[in-house]
Amino acid sequence: MTRKILHIDMNSYFATVEQQANPLLRGRPIAVLGSKAKRTIIVASSIEAKRLGIKTASDLNEALKICPELVVVHGEPRKYADVTRRFISIFEEFTDKVEIFSIDEAFLDVTKTANLFGGPEKIASKIKRKIRDEIGSWLSCSIGIGPNKFLAKTGSDLEKPDGLVIINENNKDNILQNLPLERFCGIGRAISRRLSLLDVYTTSDLRKCPIACLKEEFGVISAWKLKQIAYGLDISPVISWREQKLAKSFSCSRTMNRDITSRDEIKKQLLFLFEKVAKKLRDDNYWAKEAGFWFRFKDFSGHGKVFRLGSWCCNGLEFYGLSLKQLSQIHLHQPVRAIGVFAGRVQLSVNVPSSFLPEDKLNQQILETMDSINNRYGEDVITRGVLTGVKLKEVVSGMGRKKF
Ligand SMILES: [Mg+2]
Repeated sequence: MTRKILHIDMNSYFATVEQQANPLLRGRPIAVLGSKAKRTIIVASSIEAKRLGIKTASDLNEALKICPELVVVHGEPRKYADVTRRFISIFEEFTDKVEIFSIDEAFLDVTKTANLFGGPEKIASKIKRKIRDEIGSWLSCSIGIGPNKFLAKTGSDLEKPDGLVIINENNKDNILQNLPLERFCGIGRAISRRLSLLDVYTTSDLRKCPIACLKEEFGVISAWKLKQIAYGLDISPVISWREQKLAKSFSCSRTMNRDITSRDEIKKQLLFLFEKVAKKLRDDNYWAKEAGFWFRFKDFSGHGKVFRLGSWCCNGLEFYGLSLKQLSQIHLHQPVRAIGVFAGRVQLSVNVPSSFLPEDKLNQQILETMDSINNRYGEDVITRGVLTGVKLKEVVSGMGRKKF
């Protein structure tokens, strides 16, 4: 049965929320700034500012040169989270399968409920009307409808603002072939640049490119994902945010610049990756009760270990320490080309009993201090001494932070 998936993307989200709240800002080019560390980076610009060429992530001073009348607003994350909660509850009137993809994007699986509302297109227009009527007339969204998440997301990106694009078997190939690769979720600029080195510029090129070439450049998993993108395939389910909250796990992986054989080097990489995963846990206020790691060897065979933790943990050094025993049991029969780690069985920190041991408290303080320095001055400004020289640029994040 063909699935019916909607992807809803709020247009110029933070900026339109600000314009909704303050009528004096409506119709004017405005730029919303990020909080704390990134004070001069624009995190959102209004539709009017975008028309003048002010893009998200541009520097405020540069933007003011282009558009001196730009109105600058300091972002208020809590306000946006509150509006997000309100539109999520509108989405849930149409299906129980609502996946929050980011603060201003969601996937809805309406396969089973579409008929109750007259079909997915009707649902899309009802949602648009409800957002205007119940949240604010200034807010608009672009909606893509497709047989899977990838195509629905591709569709919502095609018409902005206030778009509605339906992608089906009939128009799919045409749409896929006419878009530059970096427009697809999961590719982006860095990967499209690497693809161009393989003479791959369009989805047609990507279809023709031998899987072996892609595997060589990106690793097995990413190579298959790229092939799926080329054909507009995606079997990943829409997982309701309510379920996701319970099922969440955190992971991090990297493909090495060159294959590595030394156990010391492998240990260093493991520590580096566990530090990254632990930071992600702390950023999202999670603790884990399980962790693991995997290796991909030169011949693309793999090996991995999963282990339970004695107590709740969000400390990279602790994950690493526990992984060493597991590592000693692994026979490294080949050079290692990629390493990944993950933390699972996670729980929000409010639900985790805090430790009263003085050494745990001290460790926690050290982590908090390191995090605040890194959050303020940039990733890896302060790190474990043993990791000196382990460079971030070796990271191949593959398909971006959020994956389908
Ligand atoms: Mg958006």
